Amino acid sequence: MTSDTPILEARDLSKHFRIRAGMMRSETRTVRAVDRLNFQIAKGETLALVGESGCGKTTTTRLLLLLQDPTHGSVRFAGEDIHKLSGAGLRSYRSKVQAVFQDPWSSINPRVRIRDFVAEPLVVNEKLTAGEIDRRVHEALDAVGLGPAHARKFPHEFSGGQRQRIAIASAMVSRPELVVLDEPVSGLDVSIRSQIINLLKDMQAEYGVSFLLVAHDLATTRYLADRVAVMYLGSIVEMGATDDVFDTPNHPYTEALLSAALPSTPGVRRDEIILGGEVPSPLSPPSGCSFHPRCHRIIGDVCKTEAPALRDHQAERCVGCHLY
Ligand code: SF4
Repeated sequence: MTSDTPILEARDLSKHFRIRAGMMRSETRTVRAVDRLNFQIAKGETLALVGESGCGKTTTTRLLLLLQDPTHGSVRFAGEDIHKLSGAGLRSYRSKVQAVFQDPWSSINPRVRIRDFVAEPLVVNEKLTAGEIDRRVHEALDAVGLGPAHARKFPHEFSGGQRQRIAIASAMVSRPELVVLDEPVSGLDVSIRSQIINLLKDMQAEYGVSFLLVAHDLATTRYLADRVAVMYLGSIVEMGATDDVFDTPNHPYTEALLSAALPSTPGVRRDEIILGGEVPSPLSPPSGCSFHPRCHRIIGDVCKTEAPALRDHQAERCVGCHLY
């Protein structure tokens, strides 16, 4: 169930890096890690970002989590530009926007008890008594299917699936409005993945939280996401309702990316489109449409000279391609 009110809105969001290049590192070039992204996430909605490595998904999540500042554009949360927040407004944003990563334990001191790990967002962003923190931690552990007794234990006492449940408890303990899910099930056995995915669905139904999902696994994306934004070389090339995009991809890159994914209707056969060449270097992106050197539906010179804008193509569907 989603509402139309965006909880988060990216407007022309861009992050460009100036780097030294060339034989003697004497040239300065600009890498457009993300370029003019426009998207919204509604209350209770899951938006997925999909695309190959290096397409800008990680930079986008880092911008949302305030780990980087944009070069242009803005991210608005409840109407406020998040990169201009300070004081109480900044603490409130950090409390309301949380993240679950693929392996959150790799950077955690193994001697930290589960109670302290789960409690961290409360300790950092809210002024609560120790008793209130304990109560909230116990509630959060309960919500992910682990009893309060686990609060005294250490990370090594849990399986991978249990550890991801604990990471979700920590993300949910501050009652966030948006959680960034960055490859939340990638490191898990296939048998555990569906349990974690169902847990995330249950949490969303119970608390109305919104998710921004980044996942390589297209089956996970299809199951969890209401809408999907397909990224290529720093830009969104297609965006729409997940079922529409998966069933009838419009952009040639989306067609190729999804051609290897399982169709939703068993027995339906799809021909796999093999993409030619590598993803171009963001240091020297192709002219015109950045996908043109690999495109199996290239029209002609217009593709090589003019960058297509992302336009509304159908209701709730936009595509950046000269074919539309
Ligand atoms: Fe292919 Fe041209 Fe569309 Fe780019 S604009 S995806 S090259 S058809």
